[in-house]
Amino acid sequence: MIDSIAASAPHIKPRSIAPKVLAWWDKNRRTLPWRAGPGETADPYRVWLSEILLQQTTAAGAAPYFLDFVARWPRVEALAAAPLEAVMQAFAGLGYYSRARNLHACAKAVAAFGGAFPSDEEALRALPGIGPYTAAAIAAIAFDRAALPVDGNIARIVSRLNAFATPILANRAAIDKAARALTPPRRAGDFAQGLMDIGATICRPRNPLCGSCPMAGACLAARTDSPEDFPPRAPRKATRHRVGAAFYARRADGAFLARRRPPKGLLGSTMELPGGHWAAGDIAAVDAEAAPFAARWRRLPGSLEHVFTHFTLNLALYAARVDFHAPPDGMVWIAPSEIASSGFSGLMRKAAESAAVLWEDPSPARGTEGNARAFPGGWREAPDEGL
Ligand code: SF4
Repeated sequence: MIDSIAASAPHIKPRSIAPKVLAWWDKNRRTLPWRAGPGETADPYRVWLSEILLQQTTAAGAAPYFLDFVARWPRVEALAAAPLEAVMQAFAGLGYYSRARNLHACAKAVAAFGGAFPSDEEALRALPGIGPYTAAAIAAIAFDRAALPVDGNIARIVSRLNAFATPILANRAAIDKAARALTPPRRAGDFAQGLMDIGATICRPRNPLCGSCPMAGACLAARTDSPEDFPPRAPRKATRHRVGAAFYARRADGAFLARRRPPKGLLGSTMELPGGHWAAGDIAAVDAEAAPFAARWRRLPGSLEHVFTHFTLNLALYAARVDFHAPPDGMVWIAPSEIASSGFSGLMRKAAESAAVLWEDPSPARGTEGNARAFPGGWREAPDEGL
């Protein structure tokens, strides 16, 4: 049974929702680089690619990646034929690098079948990297199948329409059932995209704009004093912290040493500054024990903070000048101009760029105007820390 604010509360009429959303969508749809225009047929390759990228970031964040991908690989066969390393580089900065590998594997699987994506959800789910959400999105948007991809935005809308008083993660079955009841037999792709746009612009997590919402007349949460309280948020879990060190070995021309991470695991196959394991602990206690070779390592002031899904990392940076030219086993020289194109993760790109800034001026900043330096996001300048 659906858990709602009161058993006696009225239920929405699911079939009344789609016509309102479709009428709104026809007038207010957002223009996004992967979307087919009105009257155009959606390209399954572009739909699939955009959905994979949107798992990693917002629409604004995904747009430049999408445009870069389709400029380099306009068709799925071209992406399948690309070297994996080029795909990893194009994906760099988005995190979850196993998804980049799956993206490439999926392109190969589709290309092997003549470049045509299957149109039904079950066959789509059999492809690498395509889960239930992405399969429903492709089936609905690219093939107009009666499916509804229920992401966080749509789960929130469905919860509010029904005034579900249970956090989303604890209420998936009821949300999925209610979402299926909303899905129209035709124009399911337009309906899904309409809900996505309403979720992004109107039914926002905070301060929903119910006065502008086409579903306001049918929405049970909108009848309460505080629609934004639906669905309730799950209690926060304590954040885990880890600390570690990364080592910036630089020669006179500015090139520095980097290596590729193993293919499996966190940030798999991306480039990194060499360093040790990340473990629970105190950043002040991190030392140069994990240095990749003996050198006059000096600790740079501050630390780099980076938030992963399951933990927060604080990374201490050590730097040393080196004068050899043959890189140690497993490492390569990276020129400063190559950082963006070498396949660094967002974290390690920030680490290398922060180290380069501190290399030029290692004095600890104290927040004065004259001491402002252009650090990438995440750098914490702790004056005196570890010096
Ligand atoms: S009426 Fe308000 S709470 Fe209900 S779906 Fe629309 S924006 Fe969300």
